[in-house]
Amino acid sequence: MTIMHIHAIPAFNDNYIWILQPKDSTQCVIVDPGDAQPVMKFLAEHQLTPAALLITHHHHDHTGGIQALTDRYAMPVYGPAEEDISGVTDKLRGGDSLPLTVLNLTFNIIDCPGHTNGHIAFYSAPLLFCGDTLFSAGCGRMFEGTPEQFIKSLRRFKALPDETLVYCAHEYTAANLEFAKAVEPDNQAISSHQQWVAERRQANEITVPSTLRLERKINPFLRCHLFSVQQSAQRYAQTSLADEVEVFACIREWKDNF
Ligand SMILES: [Zn+2]
Repeated sequence: MTIMHIHAIPAFNDNYIWILQPKDSTQCVIVDPGDAQPVMKFLAEHQLTPAALLITHHHHDHTGGIQALTDRYAMPVYGPAEEDISGVTDKLRGGDSLPLTVLNLTFNIIDCPGHTNGHIAFYSAPLLFCGDTLFSAGCGRMFEGTPEQFIKSLRRFKALPDETLVYCAHEYTAANLEFAKAVEPDNQAISSHQQWVAERRQANEITVPSTLRLERKINPFLRCHLFSVQQSAQRYAQTSLADEVEVFACIREWKDNF
């Protein structure tokens, strides 16, 4: 893989718009441009021209900048086949390959419904752009999908290597860790990561990308198969939960009310 800079552009309260720029190139690719204004500013400052937009799902904080950016720059907009998103020119579904010569890499498309019904992720080892499906220490709200779908989506991510870099779209890590700690009070990996995150935030630094290696240790939504998480979920639900899907549904609801 070409040496690449990956810039995080903060947008709204806590979104990150990712910009991928091969070293020494004046071109770039933008993931989920929810707001054109900070992106335009970044492009001007760094004298970059975007060559493509990648869209993970239909929510406005991921798509709101498509129109203004494509008015200004002629380029393809790649997005999910199962969602109706204005401005998307090329529709992708799970299993598709997306070669991007400007980046000298090929993204594999992973279907990951749950947060929304047609959500997709872009994966090219070790990079994973997973939108609002997986966050550091958490996952997206289940707006459209079912627990069965969501667990299946997370399993697809869990099948990726430990070294995978999780480029999620929000800075939710600190709040997610608070919840993770409530689910697993004795999990030392959560406590020590909480400390690191607190220091980073104090210094105005971002806490992503994360790695799958770390997420496997701290993210309750990737740990629904474990006894500790199941026990805790059962205590919250005050009933026994039969399987991973029921545990996931329970802690997703618990987090919504946390
Ligand atoms: Zn969303």
